[in-house]
Amino acid sequence: MAILEEPIKETLIIKNYIGGEWVESEGELVDVVNPATMKTIAKVPISTKDELEAAVEKAKEAFHEWRRIPPLARARCLFRLKELMEERFEELSRIQTMEHGKTIDESRGETRRGIENVEVATGIPSLMMGYNLEDVAAGIDEYVIYQPLGVFGIIGPFNFPFMVPLWFAPYAVATGNCVIIKPSSEDPISQMKVAEMVEEAGFPPGVWNVVNGDRTVVSAMLNNPDIEGICFVGSTRVGRDVVYKRCGETGKRVIAQCSAKNFLLVMPDANLKRTIASCMTSFYGNTGQRCLSGANLVIVGEGLNEHEYNAFYKKVVDAFVNAASKIRVGYGLDESVQMGPLRDKSKKERVIKFIEKGIEEGAKLRLDGRNVKLVGDWPHTCFLNPTVFEDVTPDMTIGREEIFGPVASIMRARNLDEAIEMIHSNPYGNAASIFTSSGKWAREFQYRVKCGNIGINIGIVAPMAFFPFGGMKNSFFGVLHGQGREAIRFFTESKVVIQRWF
Ligand code: NAD
Repeated sequence: MAILEEPIKETLIIKNYIGGEWVESEGELVDVVNPATMKTIAKVPISTKDELEAAVEKAKEAFHEWRRIPPLARARCLFRLKELMEERFEELSRIQTMEHGKTIDESRGETRRGIENVEVATGIPSLMMGYNLEDVAAGIDEYVIYQPLGVFGIIGPFNFPFMVPLWFAPYAVATGNCVIIKPSSEDPISQMKVAEMVEEAGFPPGVWNVVNGDRTVVSAMLNNPDIEGICFVGSTRVGRDVVYKRCGETGKRVIAQCSAKNFLLVMPDANLKRTIASCMTSFYGNTGQRCLSGANLVIVGEGLNEHEYNAFYKKVVDAFVNAASKIRVGYGLDESVQMGPLRDKSKKERVIKFIEKGIEEGAKLRLDGRNVKLVGDWPHTCFLNPTVFEDVTPDMTIGREEIFGPVASIMRARNLDEAIEMIHSNPYGNAASIFTSSGKWAREFQYRVKCGNIGINIGIVAPMAFFPFGGMKNSFFGVLHGQGREAIRFFTESKVVIQRWF
């Protein structure tokens, strides 16, 4: 066991980054604890309404100049930011592992996906172009221009502290807007590091701001008339009932990416070895704390008689349990570890309640992650091992609600129709995957399933930065999505000009 060097040596006191300055907050300081070692690595302020409002003022001031800077010059700031992120790639990744708990490889993946959004946004001179048509009537020309709107608020979840704000911020500033990021107070260090690089990259003061805190800052953002729009990623409870609702009332544009309960279907003709390998990263990657994590594995008996189906079901379940039982759990800075802890003790307790509920409701517990076995001698406080239930039905609590932890619920379906029905009976619609060798079944699945992200022989359907990150039903509220062209459209207003010269 070799632990990589920890880039945070002493407890960091996190400051807000407002108008190009590092400002100490008047708010209460809260501990940020490394969930593997249980050591306090930072203290984060719970900022006040006034502090958020001060940031809005700075962002508003900066907007007037920033929007006039040519897109190519704005892109140069992003190119410099990307270079700095590449230089600090390993440090940034290790920080994510320390503040969140994910393994170092998962953190490296997150860093890469974050940087890719900065790279895509550097294409702004082409991405932001409008269009025109001559002679819409005799001697009259018409064209569309895309203009930035002003100040946007970005509210992040705890599970991807580096990447998620980058689904939005690079596009917002590339199009000439200014941003205020409120990271999750559970793991705010990554966004502090990003702001340090923003400063070094030469963005003018006030273009990119970070205000730490909790619901007070969110509420101040939602109620501030100078904030044009909100990008939120987190639970449906907050995204729909707080953010989307208030944005509707105040007329702000909004992207609200919310909770999930993702189904993965295994068809009888699936390549089982590859499917199981893919399932392991889908269900247990990021310790199941992903909006794209597999939650329900449906073993589908399309074309099989009862006897054949039972044999197929057993084969898949046994292979799944066997693979899950071999996952090495421990501190993510140990390169040999495959799964880290839950983000904190209360999240672990919440997952344990789901496991107890599963047993109570009659699902069969095949692998009990409560028997914690670790690589290394770490406090067990936030750790669980992979858990597998079989004979789960869609109406059971563990089959229906988002657990957000390393728990797999295995279900039975007689055929593809029944499996798709199961997906549709769930209120969420973030992602769904099918494992099959049949193009016909795959197409049918893609065509009918009401989810924003569809995987065909893919376990984690994470769109690349140049594609939109969708979601349907209770998993998404809004119209346009984060990343790529849709983000450009979200952060701009189209203006039509019709001209005639006498
Ligand atoms: P959360 O809703 O608890 O918190 C998200 C953000 O909202 C945080 O910044 C938090 O400080 C703030 N917040 C929390 N309670 C609030 C309240 N009452 N009023 C105003 N603001 C509040 O979510 P989380 O636990 O940080 O993240 C996990 C959730 O995010 C999961 O449900 C997961 O599926 C979802 N998620 C979705 C996507 C997606 O793309 N659909 C991506 C990542 C995570």
